Amino acid sequence: MAIRTVLAITLLLTNIGFVSAMEVTDVRIGAHPDKTRLVVELSEKVPYRIFTLPNPYRMVIDLPQVEWKIGAKTSSRSSGVISSYRFGLFQKGNSRLVVDMKSPAQVLRHVLLPPSGKNKNRLVIDLKSVSPALFQRSERRFVSRDWVDPKPQAAIVRPAVLPPSKPGKKGFQAHKRVVVIDPGHGGPDPGAIGTSGLREKVVTLRIAHTVKRVLEKSGRYKVFLTRNEDVYVPLRKRFELAEGARAELFLSLHADSNRDRRLRGVSIYTLSERASDKEAAALAAKENRSDAIAGIDLSNQSDAVASFLIELRQRQTMNESAIFSEILIKEVAKTSRLLRNTHRFAGFAVLKSPDVPSILMELGYLSNRQDERLLRKRKHYIKVAESILRAADKYFVRKERLSRS
Ligand SMILES: [Zn+2]
Repeated sequence: MAIRTVLAITLLLTNIGFVSAMEVTDVRIGAHPDKTRLVVELSEKVPYRIFTLPNPYRMVIDLPQVEWKIGAKTSSRSSGVISSYRFGLFQKGNSRLVVDMKSPAQVLRHVLLPPSGKNKNRLVIDLKSVSPALFQRSERRFVSRDWVDPKPQAAIVRPAVLPPSKPGKKGFQAHKRVVVIDPGHGGPDPGAIGTSGLREKVVTLRIAHTVKRVLEKSGRYKVFLTRNEDVYVPLRKRFELAEGARAELFLSLHADSNRDRRLRGVSIYTLSERASDKEAAALAAKENRSDAIAGIDLSNQSDAVASFLIELRQRQTMNESAIFSEILIKEVAKTSRLLRNTHRFAGFAVLKSPDVPSILMELGYLSNRQDERLLRKRKHYIKVAESILRAADKYFVRKERLSRS
């Protein structure tokens, strides 16, 4: 290609905005006697929305989709009323900064300042401590004048219209089985963070892509992911996507962390009203916090995380989940290290589909140095994906046999 053509294309891309992206270049917190000031430095003037949420006390700042040029680390720079913050893509077209507050606080003032001197565009927010009662009264939306809600995106998984099932030759139906893989966390919710900084949301997405590739290569499966990029998807939406795709299996992928850094190995979880043990209950509580971490208002979601009634239909699904999890454990054991009591159960919000057999797989401990090293390796991803493939094959052969007899 002639240099002139390359130049012309580059100029064209620059003009239509493909090259330059809006950026957040710094986040600063300052504690003053009468207020805590948060400054978000921006490459350009943007519309924004601020709101506060209780349980736990949070402030959420929504921006258009931006690039975060402030390092990957979620900050725990505690100052004033702010204890920590996280950021990431909340949904297409909408990035989010979630600020954790030590105690209830109110937005005293918010303003977007234009560049002046060395300073770039700055969104300045002042917070003031208030009583819980006052906080409750002030929970409301602060919207800047030009904020427009991003258009709701089409679901990642469209309801799949499957061809009528015909019995196949080798124990498989002629149509492909639909499997949904759910890479845990994403966007402003990083999940667990490893000893050398590897983030759970990154590992789960990488492994999900490998599982999709390996399963689809077999020619027997159609695999959908609940997210294809570093974006947050609410827990309920994840299993609803699986239902919409008429999936026959739902696998939520995670990686745990523990204060005991010696703990290693894979464990597999299914849904149950009562947890199998204290650790499983604690893990479910931790994974269920995902929505709160991503800055979602849970106050009008009655049953997503709260207790639930198990119907007959769900019992059948839970039995299927348990059968798949037992098969998977045997396959994983052939190549990977398992945690003791490998199959456990608890009230995981993401496993609550009444129709799709669902399991949650903790791929290892990011808090353990050896596990974290494994979770960076492509070779290990393929090993995991191949054990999932073998287990799915066995599970569906069994299902086919039962449906014929
Ligand atoms: Zn997780």
